Amino acid sequence: MSGQILGKYFANYWVCKNCECIFIDKPFWLNEAYSESIVRTDTGIMVRNINTCNQLMIIFNTYFNPEIKVVDYGGGYGILARMLRDKGVNALWYDKFSQNLLARGFEYDGHSKADAMLAFEVMEHLEDPMETLNEIFEKTDCFIFSTDLLPRLNYKSTNEWWYFAPEAGQHIFFYSEKTLKTIANNFGLEYSKINKLHIFHKKGMFKNKRVIVKVKFFVGRVFIKLLDFFIFESRFKSRMWDDHRDMRSKMNNG
Ligand SMILES: [Zn+2]
Repeated sequence: MSGQILGKYFANYWVCKNCECIFIDKPFWLNEAYSESIVRTDTGIMVRNINTCNQLMIIFNTYFNPEIKVVDYGGGYGILARMLRDKGVNALWYDKFSQNLLARGFEYDGHSKADAMLAFEVMEHLEDPMETLNEIFEKTDCFIFSTDLLPRLNYKSTNEWWYFAPEAGQHIFFYSEKTLKTIANNFGLEYSKINKLHIFHKKGMFKNKRVIVKVKFFVGRVFIKLLDFFIFESRFKSRMWDDHRDMRSKMNNG
């Protein structure tokens, strides 16, 4: 499959049959694509961070001590680090490509050990995921991240899956469940998936209490939906997806 990146560059998407990933080879436009570190089509950023924060708090409360040190490895503007700190987690910000706006003063030193590292909507931005993961697993044995998994491998056009997002030029590596299991294996770790959260961790961690965690995820979501529906926004409809579509068509047209 090929795609048109940033409305003008031509790119090949390669399928790896071994681990079932899809990637772009030599993305030479990255500097241009990162002229703004958070693209303007990312209208889901706040909704996503709120959900992520809630889910992480369920996991931290269930499996970790309140003293843990957590590093948000692709911390972006610092939204999640700040939100987690508000909930009492010693979360630190780290990002090689983005400016820290909201978690200033709580930067990670880049080398000390951490109880967990996070990377939300980061893995699909990596040219060489194994290099980054090598770096991460020197410092932690628990890596919690998000990335949308490939629904299938055979695509004719980048229009067939919104996550390819060629108009922004930042998504260059796409994973399947098999890819993630293969990676975990290579590092001698285990791979777990809790709802949409992916976790690489040392063996045995997250084995217990899985049902409780799943129930809490579910009940939390239902309660928030009910609150939204009955208390907060009965006459208003979210503009998140419409805004996303607007921005995307603007970027596609240069
Ligand atoms: Zn592969």
